[in-house]
Amino acid sequence: MYSEKEAREILVKAGLELVRTGLIARTWGNISARISNEEFIITPSGIPYERLTADMMVKVKISDLSYEGDIKPSSEKGIHAKAYLYRKDVNFIIHTHQTYATALSVTYIDMDIEDAEMKSVLGDKLVTSKYGMPSTKKLMRNVEDAIVKNPDANSILLMNHGTLCMGHDYDSAFTIASALEELAEKMVNRKLKPESRENDADGKSLTIKEAAISVAEENVKGRFISFNDDRNVSILSSIIDNNVHLLDDYVQIAGTNIRTIEVGIADCNNEAARSRLGKKIKTALNNSTVVFIKGIGALIAAPTEDDAKAVGMILDKYALTRLYAAGNEAVHKLGFLDAIIQRFVYVKKYSKKAKGK
Ligand code: 13P
Ligand code: ZN
Repeated sequence: MYSEKEAREILVKAGLELVRTGLIARTWGNISARISNEEFIITPSGIPYERLTADMMVKVKISDLSYEGDIKPSSEKGIHAKAYLYRKDVNFIIHTHQTYATALSVTYIDMDIEDAEMKSVLGDKLVTSKYGMPSTKKLMRNVEDAIVKNPDANSILLMNHGTLCMGHDYDSAFTIASALEELAEKMVNRKLKPESRENDADGKSLTIKEAAISVAEENVKGRFISFNDDRNVSILSSIIDNNVHLLDDYVQIAGTNIRTIEVGIADCNNEAARSRLGKKIKTALNNSTVVFIKGIGALIAAPTEDDAKAVGMILDKYALTRLYAAGNEAVHKLGFLDAIIQRFVYVKKYSKKAKGK
């Protein structure tokens, strides 16, 4: 257990560490520390970790989630509270959106951990809690159910969303998160099909990529343009249906209607063709931050350079998840309405907090 002062300070440190290790991006994820059998301290909702100070952390009651002060605690306080309620050995909790474990969370996992070293860190089991939209009572109830049924599991995969890593202290929570990532990476990679396509950046695709970027810069004003042609994203760009909603954070930041545009050399080499292409790209980016350029990669148009970087990271995770999902029969997809609602909440409310609005 921590003193209140210790808890507030260690949460600042943990936030920076989470960003540094890539276990979360932007303001996603949250961290808490227990200060008594009745209360814990948690990070506030939607504020970038780099801006957090000890006095911004919020004291929350385990029994009824009531909190002290004017700053809104993390919207996932409910799942932290359930973990503290049922797991008396747990004093430090991290909710991450880490890449491989999140990719793994689109399939339902309920398995005994065999490897002795993994077992000593993660406990006897690895399980997935049933889907509930982020920050909802439904998610809280499903996580509660998973914790109660699996008292020995030190981490829970949150379906289509991320993880909950429950440690005895700061160090053990981080060790759990990284062991989980290692295990998940192996499990995901086992399902990935070896990719046969060779070309990475041949001359033709380079020309098209550069043309797409400059056409987007001319036509989509006021947004930062970047291009992601990482291997998995480029493989995914050849698949036409890019509206398979698999990850909460991707739907939130990228949108629910992601298009794929076919672009050839002929579309890039004269003014009239470029202007037609510009219109297509502009329309595709109307309500989303991503448009796939078939066979090449994805154009990203985000409000700021930082946002574009975050979209690029989440897109990498989504591409990996799609490829993992392609090798599996039992994949859980987000319902259309759940996807629309969380995109709306993200754009209208959540993302604005980070800008201090
Ligand atoms: P908060 O910013 O409210 O903690 O939410 C982040 C998150 O990951 C929601 O699932
Ligand atoms: Zn989350």
